[in-house]
Amino acid sequence: MLDRVVIDALFPADLSEPAHWEQRYPSRELPEGAAVTRFGPSPTGFVHIGGVYVATIDRDVATNSGGVYLVRVEDTDQSREVEGALAQFARAFDYFGISSDEDDGHGDYGPYRQSARERIYLSYVRELLRHGKAYLCFATKSELADITGRQQAAKIPTGYYGSWAIWRDADPAAVQAKLADGAPYVVRFRAPDGTTDQRVRFTDVIRGDLEHEANRNDTVILKSSDQSPRLPTYHFAHAVDDHLMRVTLVIRGEEWISSVPLHLQLFDALGFEPMTYAHIAPLMKKISGGKRKLSKRSDPEAGVDFYIEAGYPAEAVLYYLRGLANGRLAELPLRQALITPIRLAQCGVDGPLVDLVKLEDISADHIATLPGPEILGAVRTWAAQFDPELVTVLDTEHDLALRALAVERDGVDNPRKDLRKWSDFRAAYGFFFPQLFAPLSGPTDERLSPLGVDPTIAASFAQNFADGYQHLDDPQEWFNQIRELAAKHGFAPNAKEYKKNPAAYPGSIREASQLIRVALTGSTRSPDLPAITQALGAPEVLRRLCALVGGGATGS
Ligand code: GLU
Repeated sequence: MLDRVVIDALFPADLSEPAHWEQRYPSRELPEGAAVTRFGPSPTGFVHIGGVYVATIDRDVATNSGGVYLVRVEDTDQSREVEGALAQFARAFDYFGISSDEDDGHGDYGPYRQSARERIYLSYVRELLRHGKAYLCFATKSELADITGRQQAAKIPTGYYGSWAIWRDADPAAVQAKLADGAPYVVRFRAPDGTTDQRVRFTDVIRGDLEHEANRNDTVILKSSDQSPRLPTYHFAHAVDDHLMRVTLVIRGEEWISSVPLHLQLFDALGFEPMTYAHIAPLMKKISGGKRKLSKRSDPEAGVDFYIEAGYPAEAVLYYLRGLANGRLAELPLRQALITPIRLAQCGVDGPLVDLVKLEDISADHIATLPGPEILGAVRTWAAQFDPELVTVLDTEHDLALRALAVERDGVDNPRKDLRKWSDFRAAYGFFFPQLFAPLSGPTDERLSPLGVDPTIAASFAQNFADGYQHLDDPQEWFNQIRELAAKHGFAPNAKEYKKNPAAYPGSIREASQLIRVALTGSTRSPDLPAITQALGAPEVLRRLCALVGGGATGS
């Protein structure tokens, strides 16, 4: 083993002892059963919806146990770091309203960014070295490749372990010679002797008792000495952080289960109490013949930005995710499900499917329950970021927007479900706004062609309708205007009559009212026409009717 003096000389002379950090970050005083959870995003520039899923569970478990939820930025892999990634995380958590009790800026257990905790890690690395639980390794890339090659040829597990670990039991003189040469080194954890062929057992809150092969590898815990800052690897950093931040429950993705044997060894070597783990099954996507993990490379809906840019209401997405975590929450109404605790024991071990059609239904149902002013506020907030033109229109036409949203929403038992996300607003309501609506170019406008009404008749019908137009608010009376005029213009009184002898009529009453609908909305499908005219106001109704008539057409 290396001499303590040699070891200490590798570290800053004023580096604190572990006891200092233990004191600096004392045990938390929390009620019995309170869970301290954490979420550890890595700032690699892509926020996966699975991250929001896990963070939701973290937040929920902490809140409902009277505990603490903290966010710790895991940025030890600086080569993968992407500029602006932290802002992206902040934006995502903000959108979904997942606030943390502690992070940089507030909290007594910080800094909450691993790259700012270098000295803390170094104290513990030095401590392990002093006790022979870690060692310096000078193996070069080519030596490591050679070891792997020989292990593969011998068909034995690859890795840096046992007698393959060339610096594990190196002569201290050889180590000192390398140091004197200024050779770069990493620090490796010395896996306990005799772990080969051993199994470890541990309990996962979600999966119950698990058994895994013990870790045999002498894992790197501190990266190369020729790098600055000298940062640890994730495995080591998270052990030190979870301990010193007094985390009690590690909720993380299932991909970390295979690392638990190493993590338990690290906790033991460091003299820390072992953690309780809950490994969450990943969100999945249905593919033909099965399912696979929702992938950041192939599935746009894997990214949080997908939901934010489309403007899915945060509550609808959260409700959906909570239902995926605990099926019973999907059975509850949204408001209730959002405040009913998630139970870890009820999280499945099979990854749940993310089904966008289902999410859209949930979202449409939810939006249908909201009052118009609230919808307008949410659409405007969304548009401020993604559709500036719409913001200008909504600000100029605030009252019209409210009237538009009130159509088949206010005072009805079954409000319209025409918005699944805020970006649907333009398509569903854009026609109400003169700034966004393109009036017909005349009776030959192609939007009228599905009706098959002769353009000359269409124009004269619209002209007469406009001439005698009464802005009535009783829907029946309003429609009667069309009915009477349609009869005068020779339209069949109903579809049946028309079908019997199509050549005898320009269309039926149905085509006649569709002419007006297309003139007023640009489409053959729209909400209730009289209600639309009330929202638009008489002058705008007349302007649109005249556009059907067109420049050259005259009434007859
Ligand atoms: N930084 C890790 C990740 O992004 C978090 C792992 C953990 O929660 O322990 O996957």
